[in-house]
Formats: sequence, C-alpha cells, structure tokens
Amino acid sequence: MKNFSARKVIIRIIIFAVAGMGILFGHTTTARLQRLFVYFLSHNNKVIHETPVVVTKPENLGSVHTVIGQSVQGRSIDAYTYGSGKTHITFVGGIHGGYEWNTVILAYKFIDYFDADPKVIPTDLTVTVIPDANPDGVYKVTGKEGRFTSADVSTNTQVLASGRFNGNSVDLNRNFDCKWQPQSTWQSKTVSAGTAPFSEPEAQILRDFLLKNNQSLVIFWHSQSGTVYASQCENGILPETKTTMNIYAKASGYASSQTFDAYATTGGADDWLASVNVPAFTVELKTHDTIEWNQNLAGVVALFEYYSKK
Ligand SMILES: [Zn+2]
Repeated sequence: MKNFSARKVIIRIIIFAVAGMGILFGHTTTARLQRLFVYFLSHNNKVIHETPVVVTKPENLGSVHTVIGQSVQGRSIDAYTYGSGKTHITFVGGIHGGYEWNTVILAYKFIDYFDADPKVIPTDLTVTVIPDANPDGVYKVTGKEGRFTSADVSTNTQVLASGRFNGNSVDLNRNFDCKWQPQSTWQSKTVSAGTAPFSEPEAQILRDFLLKNNQSLVIFWHSQSGTVYASQCENGILPETKTTMNIYAKASGYASSQTFDAYATTGGADDWLASVNVPAFTVELKTHDTIEWNQNLAGVVALFEYYSKK
C-alpha cells in the first residue's frame, strides 16, 4: 500500500514535470515525452491501456497511444487517438499485413503528421489511427515489429503473399460477421476465413475497439486498385457511407465504386460495420508500394471539413 502511494506521488511528479516541459517546449516535445511515459508505464506494469491514459494534454494536443490487444503471435496492436470531440473517425491500416505493407507506412505517416500539427484535426472530432491491424502478417514480410521502412520489405513474392494472412494463416478481412463462410476468395485463390466469425484475435480486437468507441466513420486502407469502395452487408449502402466515400474519392482523385465487383468476398470488416449501422469504406491505394500521400491527405482533410461543418 505504501509503495503504491509512493508510486502515485512519483507518477504525479512526472506528470507535472512533463506538463511543465510542454509549456516550455511546446506540444511536439510533450507528445514525445508522453509516449515515452506511456511506454514506461506499460512496460513496468504490463498494463494494456484499453482506456487512453491521458498523461499530459495542456492544450489537448498530440496523440494518446494505447495498446488495444495482441495478435495470434503476441504482437501489439496499437491505436493513436487525437482529440476528444463527439464525432469519432477511425483509420485502419494493414489488415492485409505485409502483402499491403504500404498501407501501414501511410498510416504511420498520418500519425507523424497529426503529431506535428494536431490542430489539423477539428475540435469536434476524435480521430484514431490503427496503423497495423495484422502485425504478424507484417512481421512475415519485414522481420520488424512496429515501424519499418520500405527497405525492410522482402522482395520474394511468395513471402509477400503469405504476409497477407495472420499467424493462423487466416485472411482477417474475411473473418468478420457479414455473410461469413469458412472459406472465401482472394482473386482466383481460396483462402481461410477462420473457424467462425471473429475466430481471430485481431478481428475481435478491431470489433471491440470500434463498438466500444461509438464510431461515426471507419476507413480501411488497402492496396491495390486506386479505388474507394463502399461497404454493405444485407441492407444496402448506408447514406452516410455514400456521402463520405464520395468526399474522399473526389478530393483524392481515386475512382469510387459502390461495390467491390472484382470477385465475390465474404466476412469483410467494412461490410460487417454496415451490418451494425456504422458508415465505413475501403480505400485501395494504386500500387503495393506507394502511399500517394498528397491524394490521401486531401481525402482526409476533405472529410475533416465535412464533419466540422456538420
Ligand atoms: Zn487488402
């Protein structure tokens, strides 16, 4: 008990020190210290921060980093959240792991961009970026956990293809509860969709995070077709999905499509969101190794403008 109180005091001292540093050196330094502090806490207490721990937010700026769960092979799935407005938008990269590693790099670039200038995010929004929803798949291709660069990526096409799946060789974007089937399709191939809807921990983690944090919109980055796709399950496309996907497509210059018609799919994450009335869409980058930063930034900023005028 004594130790616990002493620790609380120490933690408070650190909080004040970090807050003071923030006032002296600005929010970028503060955000870095805050991440260090959260890292310190999580590695000393083995705490998984389901509820964001606000360490220092003197101006309500910078990201709050939370670990929202662990993959099949025990790798962290991270979320970076900005702001505390009533409208919550979440961006998800890497659900197809190392096969679509460019979507993870794009997501990290957004994290850096928002950390450097959090005022980009209107005050009535909460924005979460989950950079890598399939860290085991990314590890297969990069040999890295967390951040990596394009230089880390394997050039072996078989390795790249295997990186699409999680640690149980399941295609996570076929494991959600919308028209789920045990086997599904990827191009002309048959892929495992798991043993049941949400049989995979990565799919459970996304489901639980998105349901717990009442979402106004969820966007999934994939590659490669240079197209924005609407989501739908049994009851057609939600009107808000149509509106927001068109805003992103128009601003980014990507094509927009009401349906993914290249081949039939089941158990898609965005389609499951449609079934629980959450607007969602998929953005497919043009290639497997570009991030098309200016296009995606334009899409995201256009969405922010839309929500801030609502
Ligand atoms: Zn994909």
